[in-house]
Amino acid sequence: MNLQKELETAVAAVRAASVVCVAVQRDLVTAETLEKKDKSPVTVADYASQAVICAALAEVFPGDPVVGEEGSGELREDANAALRASVAKHAQMSEDAALTAIDRGAFDPANDPSVKRYWTLDPIDGTKGFLRGEQYAVALALIEDGEVTLGVLGCPNLEGGVVMTAVKGGGAKRLSLKGDGVDGETVSVSPVATSAEAKLCESVESGHSDHGASSQIADKLGITAEPFRIDSQCKYAAVAMGKAEVYLRLPTKPGYREKIWDHAAGKLVVEEAGGTVTDVHGKRHDFGQGRTLAPDGGVVCTNGPFHAAVVEAVSGVLAG
Ligand code: AMP
Ligand code: MG
Repeated sequence: MNLQKELETAVAAVRAASVVCVAVQRDLVTAETLEKKDKSPVTVADYASQAVICAALAEVFPGDPVVGEEGSGELREDANAALRASVAKHAQMSEDAALTAIDRGAFDPANDPSVKRYWTLDPIDGTKGFLRGEQYAVALALIEDGEVTLGVLGCPNLEGGVVMTAVKGGGAKRLSLKGDGVDGETVSVSPVATSAEAKLCESVESGHSDHGASSQIADKLGITAEPFRIDSQCKYAAVAMGKAEVYLRLPTKPGYREKIWDHAAGKLVVEEAGGTVTDVHGKRHDFGQGRTLAPDGGVVCTNGPFHAAVVEAVSGVLAG
């Protein structure tokens, strides 16, 4: 698939947005904001990151819609003038330009099924991790005909700062966050072939994935290593790099629909590194239905060889 221009544009945009996030995390996440559970730093970085990426995409691909997590509604309110100014400053653009760029993320594929190509963006995935000074990701993916064809994950706090890239059919790569260009080291999932040897990763937040169920599943599969918990799509990056063999996201609230921007980039990075990603029923996710995936689907992501056994264990435990 020739998506070279898309790849170059997406990597440059994700790097630029990651630099903004790093600066905001360094300058605005302080002991005081942490203590007060003040979310304003992540709010600034979220909007600024979306503005930077949407502006970069608009320049090269003006016809492509974007399904982005943020909207500019609240940012336009008079009460948020200071926040707006801070977003514009960090994004290094005028307030008007930032608002216009953010609004490019409002597309909903469900409203216009004739549109077969669009981007999806999580400007900061793992906001809780960002606020704790831990893992988060800037996630951008291209969707064509319901399939993810390009994925880029900026992971500023993973392994000294990495960008994971994947193009459908072209493998997955690991680039330095600080470098330039799109050349990098090809990555592959772990060769571990039995579940008993596997390491499992999951969300830090028990509200985002059922930790109790995953521990029962681990028992069924004979997994003895303690699960490791990190925020954001860095979990997909960990599986793609071979640092973990299993990533589970087990529904906690009936009817919850996963957002496409929380999974599109990470899923392709894992698949192109040789791994397998399905929902908890073992079915492929459909990224072509709207801003969300089917309800109650969760995620089962593995390095591949024992995926079916993991899905079976998940089904058994979720059925009660
Ligand atoms: P993580 O860092 O893996 O905990 O995932 C963060 C993402 O979880 C956020 O971007 C949210 O979109 C998403 N999220 C919020 N509520 C839920 C929920 N109840 N179940 C699954 N994911 C959720
Ligand atoms: Mg997210």
